[in-house]
Amino acid sequence: MSAPRPHRPELHSSIAQIDLSHLGFRIEGQSIAGVETWLRIPQWSLGIDVGRSPDHIVRCRHLALTHAHMDHAGGLAQYLAMRRLYSLGTSTVYAPEAACADLTTLVNAWQRLHGHDFDWRLKPMQPGEEAELGGGRFLRAFAVQHVVPALGYAVFERPRKLRPEYVGQPGEVLRELAARGVVTTTQSDRVLLGVSGDSLVSVLETSRDLQQAEVALCEVTFLDGRRSVADAHVGAHIHLDELIERSELLACRHFVPYHISQIYSVREAQELLQTRLPPSLAERTHPLLPYDRARPPSGTQLAT
Ligand SMILES: [Zn+2]
Repeated sequence: MSAPRPHRPELHSSIAQIDLSHLGFRIEGQSIAGVETWLRIPQWSLGIDVGRSPDHIVRCRHLALTHAHMDHAGGLAQYLAMRRLYSLGTSTVYAPEAACADLTTLVNAWQRLHGHDFDWRLKPMQPGEEAELGGGRFLRAFAVQHVVPALGYAVFERPRKLRPEYVGQPGEVLRELAARGVVTTTQSDRVLLGVSGDSLVSVLETSRDLQQAEVALCEVTFLDGRRSVADAHVGAHIHLDELIERSELLACRHFVPYHISQIYSVREAQELLQTRLPPSLAERTHPLLPYDRARPPSGTQLAT
């Protein structure tokens, strides 16, 4: 049986929403390469990147920063200040370890300028490191390649299952075995969400979390020949040509391209993805395209 399709991204308060209620969550977000990227999963109180800190993301108790480029992390101090204003309690911010000293310096400076301390914890992350989000879910960082220190993130559950040889045994037998130290269960991760952050396409080959996630969000900055693969590599980004060559690596039920350059209108981006991706992936693809952007003014040079 094929997976239920999520609702199409909708225009709502100029943010995109991808309803994955059959998986128990919803993705909200805004993502325009070089301008602003943030994602929010309200059911998990989790934000991934903060963009310019819109109201939508302020309620998230957990905030995972993929890297500290301004369009992904520039709103950090504003996010912390708004959480203080609304008495929303301690937030935990996860970030690549190599970026944490500078993030701390920035936030400390903002605390002095603002005249108040913010209620936050900064958790430095390295590839493979895990953190508990609550509700039986965990965050795990994975390695990516970008022009500054960066990580991708996966959210997963680790359900405990009976080993096949103990299935059907009465509870008292299982309890007795457990009391004798016999291991009757196994654990295997179920990756609900994988988010590439900004990266070269190598992340598709190296991250099992991204390959195996139920929902895979992958940055795809450039979609056609208006920018070359070499152009994408200058900023350590992914070009659709490269993704197409590796599309068989994506086992996801739902594929969400994001971080698309503003050189494409929403309609162009939708058409390019639908016509260029192999049909088996195109039918699982729901790009995060928040609203129809006006074309940039003529004569404007856009780097991304
Ligand atoms: Zn970046």
